[in-house]
Amino acid sequence: MLTQLECDVLCIGAGGGGIVAAVTAAERGARVIVLSKRPYGSGNTRIAGGLVLLPNISPEDSPEALMRDMVVAGEFLNNQALVETFCERAPHAAELMEQFGVIFSRKRSGTLAPLPVPLAGHGFPRTLTIYSEGVPIGTALRGAASRVGVQVLDETIAVRLIGDGANVAGAIALRWLTGEMVMIRAKQTILATGGLGWLYYPHTSNSRAMTGDGYVLALRAGAELVDMEQQQFIPFALTHPEPMVGIVCGEPAIAGPYGRLLDAKGRQILTRVRMKTRAQVSAAMSLAKEHGIATQHGGMVLDLTPNLKKVLGTKMFEFLKRTFPSMIDAVRRAYGEDAAKGRTPWDVFPTAHYQMGGIKVTPDCRVWGVKNLFAIGEVQGGLHGGNRIGSTSLAELFVFGSLAGNLAAEAASRTGDISVDISTAKETSAHTNSLPGKSGSHKPIFLVRRLQRILWENVGPIRDEGRLTHALEEIQRIREMQSDVCISGRRECNPDWLDAIELDAMLLAGEVIVRSALMRKESRGGHVRLDYTRRDDKAWLKNIVVGMHDDTLALRAEDVPLSRIHLGSKGGANPLRERIQFLILNILPRKAQSKILDARLNLGDDS
Ligand SMILES: Cc1cc2nc3c(=O)[nH]c(=O)nc-3n(C[C@H](O)[C@H](O)[C@H](O)COP(=O)(O)OP(=O)(O)OC[C@H]3O[C@@H](n4cnc5c(N)ncnc54)[C@H](O)[C@@H]3O)c2cc1C
Repeated sequence: MLTQLECDVLCIGAGGGGIVAAVTAAERGARVIVLSKRPYGSGNTRIAGGLVLLPNISPEDSPEALMRDMVVAGEFLNNQALVETFCERAPHAAELMEQFGVIFSRKRSGTLAPLPVPLAGHGFPRTLTIYSEGVPIGTALRGAASRVGVQVLDETIAVRLIGDGANVAGAIALRWLTGEMVMIRAKQTILATGGLGWLYYPHTSNSRAMTGDGYVLALRAGAELVDMEQQQFIPFALTHPEPMVGIVCGEPAIAGPYGRLLDAKGRQILTRVRMKTRAQVSAAMSLAKEHGIATQHGGMVLDLTPNLKKVLGTKMFEFLKRTFPSMIDAVRRAYGEDAAKGRTPWDVFPTAHYQMGGIKVTPDCRVWGVKNLFAIGEVQGGLHGGNRIGSTSLAELFVFGSLAGNLAAEAASRTGDISVDISTAKETSAHTNSLPGKSGSHKPIFLVRRLQRILWENVGPIRDEGRLTHALEEIQRIREMQSDVCISGRRECNPDWLDAIELDAMLLAGEVIVRSALMRKESRGGHVRLDYTRRDDKAWLKNIVVGMHDDTLALRAEDVPLSRIHLGSKGGANPLRERIQFLILNILPRKAQSKILDARLNLGDDS
């Protein structure tokens, strides 16, 4: 049986992007339904570190400066028109978050307490923090959604977009708890399904729901994906014990001014780690491992002890511990109290963190080539190019969530009857319904695990043609096994069923990543190609665009329009200015240093 529902705006995904869009649309009078694959409130937004961009703290800062930093860090792959929209609106994101009920860390005086130093890749200090990190964002969003009467279908997984030709008109979904299939007809649909870090489990910081569904839903509806080979591997994650592998324990900033990044033989593999972008640090660590000098746990050594010998280092570490309590807590649980206090080194390695590539959109988040469909949040492509700088993503959810919510509500108010090709909808529903009770040889979860291992080993931070080709062959092998799966016959809460649906999306998303990575014959962005070690602006200043025709992927490389920020532009903090400040501080007596830093870092302030 196929239950039918109808609404003006359907938001697929209940993370930050989906809920902000849903609330905004509902406030404009739209009838809104939100789908949440996992329990309502889960997703990456809730587990985020709570760093939020505010790009007007310094008087010298500006939307242009932010745009330059994002594009330079993104190695010029960014969709500059989209970046421009973001940078113009980003100064208001924090205010919007407060309207939703998010509370930022403040000084005792009541004024905001931004981080006093720029995050890597940023030219200015422009980051706010949130008490208890991402959790309060999730709580605030849920509160806002219930106040405006958004209808949430919990534990409901969208399996296919429906519509008529290139017009999207809602989705078919499985209500996992009851085993019921639903068809939701919607005048406008917003994809906000987050990223795909789970393709790399256990080497990921992401939540369990990040299996790349949104990319696949869009692709199958006629959309295009851009630069899907660009994953961000955040450099510092735990390497052991096994259940804690992949958990993030720090940004490059955690190294502090004197921290050293070493290989297993004690040789320094990168200097001035704190100032480097996530991509630069991850690349150095991955290359060192490739040269066979990793620890017994497969990591590198982050030695923070030199910080504790200096006033600046000690104060910075104290400050970072306060700013990232959950990361330090993870270190404590994995490596013990001394490690959490910076007295013993940490064993660290990059982990899959963020998907930069995604659905190709216009500057107002409409999906290219498909009508009545928007894409926002991590599933959207183009904003971050080849590397995202910290704190931009949470702000982006509010900037583009509100933009898409407004536009979708407005468009829905002008849309008449919705036409749906019922036969395709029924076919999808029948296929999904037929999965329970399949008595083949392979449990879907084992195929999922095999795919994850293949992707991490061959399509992780280090790649070459041989590994990528091997991954493609393996994906094909797993596909063959996928047609011979074994799924218990239960219809309610059947994990095999969910695994089988997710496996299907993961295989296609994985294939898109591998094919895109094979096409890009250079090293740019979040990963290193061993066979093409340099960035090649002459041949590869291009976006890799993937579409799908008759179930076959079609790839092409398109020149990146450099509309505002041109090659050769510089971004990030001025190293000379930092160096001078550093030297001046160091010649002061310890007591004076301590006083200045306490004031600058709000230490001793009970904010
Ligand atoms: C550990 C960690 C720390 C981070 N820290 C920061 C930070 O401090 N600052 C910052 O700016 N960024 C940070 N990020 C990045 C940021 O949190 C995410 O990029 C952002 O929250 C993504 O939001 P989203 O709304 O796009 O997706 P999510 O919040 O991940 O939500 C996706 C939603 O889609 C649902 N979904 C998925 N597939 C389907 C389907 N088929 N059907 C129905 N529903 C579906 C999921 O259940 C979920 O509800 C961090 C990320 C991680 C993992």
